Amino acid sequence: MHELSLAHAIWTQVETEMGRLGGRLLGLDVVVGAFSGADAESLEFALGLMAGRSDWPGARVHLRTEPLAMACRGCGAEFEVAGTVLACPSCGSMDADPVRGTEVRLESLEVETDGGKTDTSG
Ligand SMILES: [Zn+2]
Repeated sequence: MHELSLAHAIWTQVETEMGRLGGRLLGLDVVVGAFSGADAESLEFALGLMAGRSDWPGARVHLRTEPLAMACRGCGAEFEVAGTVLACPSCGSMDADPVRGTEVRLESLEVETDGGKTDTSG
């Protein structure tokens, strides 16, 4: 049920944003980190259900998977992790912190208002 609580948290954010923006929700973009632990399909399904029960049942749910990215503590290089190799490609250090790909977040909303279409990603 992890995805359902995630979807609920995202949807709460959507409703907050819509309360601020006004207008009609056409679609939402959600980023799912490869190491977030969330299953993209289940999340998409849960968000689809919430959209269907909302004031904007026609809103489209777009999910984008984000690969895991690390920042090396040794040389500062940022690199995407493919497979299970976590070593820095610049200096070979194994000491790195994740910077992307570990969370699920709402990226942008596509909203139609009287003034036209707005995309919050700008
Ligand atoms: Zn490095």
